[in-house]
Amino acid sequence: MKYIIANWKAHKNKEEALKWAKRIKKIIIPSTFKVIVAPPFPFLLPIKEIIKDNKQIELASQDISRFMEGEYTGEVIARSLKDIVNYTIIGHSERRIFFHEQYNILNKKALNSLSYNIKPIFCINKLSNKVPKGVEYIAFEPLESIGTGKNEDLEDVLQFKNKKFKDKKIKFLYGGSVNRNNILSYLRSKEIDGVLIGKKSLEIKTFTQLLKYVFSSVKR
Ligand code: PGA
Repeated sequence: MKYIIANWKAHKNKEEALKWAKRIKKIIIPSTFKVIVAPPFPFLLPIKEIIKDNKQIELASQDISRFMEGEYTGEVIARSLKDIVNYTIIGHSERRIFFHEQYNILNKKALNSLSYNIKPIFCINKLSNKVPKGVEYIAFEPLESIGTGKNEDLEDVLQFKNKKFKDKKIKFLYGGSVNRNNILSYLRSKEIDGVLIGKKSLEIKTFTQLLKYVFSSVKR
């Protein structure tokens, strides 16, 4: 299985979000691919309803609370998300940088999600980043590649994987300036289970063209 994750970050209003979802649900996705959409929280439920008949599309939240439950105004806890998303992104570099999230917080987030059967997609950007126990999906996103147009070469990504996870049974994804010119190099590699896409997932036309290109080029 290859995973293609669309991380919208802090973009889109309701109209734009629903239009995107209505277009994506019509795409025929081969059974060897999963497309995972990570929209802002308010759009998770309406998008879930729109995509419900397309089993190859799943939902992720972009974050999850480190708290289990209680008086934490503004937080979105795992128990609230459990019947809505299959996955949650944890530890994206933007959370590490702008919200100062360190390992102790990220570990709590991962434990909370796992306890509600939400699969963490745990992002790391360097070798020294620790990974919580039980995490199966890892996204390697080098800082200098996120949103810069400078993707990390496949060879360097594989070198990172082998150094950090040699012989470990994980699903390993790459993220950072993935686009039409480089996406196949990752998805054609047996060592790479998928990609996280930011910018190029936002515009539905660009994204659906990218998906069609991938589906017609990658045999699994
Ligand atoms: P980008 O973002 O594709 O815009 O580089 C990737 C990410 O941060 O997940």
